[in-house]
Amino acid sequence: MERVDLILTDIDFVLTMDENFTEYKNTSIAIKDGKIVDIGEDVKNRYFGKTIVCKGKIAIPGLINTHTHAAMTLLRGYGSDNPLKVWLEEYIWPVEGQFVSYEFVKDGTQIAVYEMLRNGVTTFVDMYFYENAVADVLNKLGIRGVLSTGILDFPTPGAKTPDEGIAKTEEFIKEHKGSEYIYPAIGPHAPYTCSPETLKKAMDVAEKYDVLYHIHISETEFEVQTVKEKYGETPVKHLEKIGVLNSRVLAAHMVHPTDEEIELLAKKGVKVAHCPESNLKLASGIAPVPKMIEAGVIVGIGTDGTASNDDLDVIGEISTAAKLHKGYWKDPTVLNAKQALAMATREGAKAVRLENKIGTVEKGKKADIVLIDANQPHLNPLFDPYTQIVYSSKGLDVDTVIINGDIKVLNKEVLVIEKDYVLDIAKKWKEKIEALNKATQR
Ligand SMILES: [Zn+2]
Repeated sequence: MERVDLILTDIDFVLTMDENFTEYKNTSIAIKDGKIVDIGEDVKNRYFGKTIVCKGKIAIPGLINTHTHAAMTLLRGYGSDNPLKVWLEEYIWPVEGQFVSYEFVKDGTQIAVYEMLRNGVTTFVDMYFYENAVADVLNKLGIRGVLSTGILDFPTPGAKTPDEGIAKTEEFIKEHKGSEYIYPAIGPHAPYTCSPETLKKAMDVAEKYDVLYHIHISETEFEVQTVKEKYGETPVKHLEKIGVLNSRVLAAHMVHPTDEEIELLAKKGVKVAHCPESNLKLASGIAPVPKMIEAGVIVGIGTDGTASNDDLDVIGEISTAAKLHKGYWKDPTVLNAKQALAMATREGAKAVRLENKIGTVEKGKKADIVLIDANQPHLNPLFDPYTQIVYSSKGLDVDTVIINGDIKVLNKEVLVIEKDYVLDIAKKWKEKIEALNKATQR
């Protein structure tokens, strides 16, 4: 018998989400030093250590949210149902202009992290300001984040110029490169808010330090039109022309690529973070995801910030995606349950270039594992676990969350951050934001 740190026994189903969609029934998983060391029926007989009995549970890889702005959780539901311009100019930007700070980002991130953990998210990709605050929260709680500060051509809360933003990102990368939980990235905001010069300088840094290039591309028709007028090309072609389209790029949204651009994305190895609920709520449109996957583009799932979603439930997001594209293409075979769940796991890991570490439940991978409580009436009878997760379950059916071998959620209770503490933070900021609102209306 070999001692390990944690054993998950008697799991009803393990959906490994590997390339062959290998699954195990009534099996056990052994975890040591943050990694999965063994999977199989006889694991129980060969290892000993702290044990969780997982009868009635489905194990899947920790979910990966490939695009969000965690701190914007403080603006959840604020100014909803307005035209985009009104929403941004009268609601979002005034609050951000007044309040965005280390404290704002730290507080907003803690609410977001509570929600993401409760919904089974073990890694998220963030772009906002004061990412050092996000890194501090994640390092303390032991949650993975691919973190980038938004770089724009106009002054931001953290940088007066894009060059300052790039320099600060370089410092951030040096500080966190090689960390267990923080994967630093560079985040030029979008092709219509960054000049070609800024975009190229950001790519130089991405290449120098071998990090992800996280950017919004082709989110709205307005963006496509603006880039066309300014540079004579649609966004993807514009980026190719200036030499920043390659496999480091994680493109959030990608709602309006042309067929030619989809081919280009596949050829260059660009990854996409599909954010269907945000695109629907902000009326941006419907991304041609089945076409992109067909062309060979890696597509992960993202919630975007809660100001435009309005939740961080990745299971809900893949459910929306699977149904949205069936309806749009009038074809029920499009984006099946396995593919949808892969977007939130294996493909999400590829999208952030971490497929060697996370995204599947396999020997040697990091022990980022989520257990779903399938022993509930709304998930039964259970003919197919993939179908049940994507179409019947909600994020709140997540029972246990393990990151790097450590238990973060158990019996549907978040262990690493207190619910009342999170609710107090939310209340504090609601009052501050409402007071600002009243002051500006006067
Ligand atoms: Zn975004």
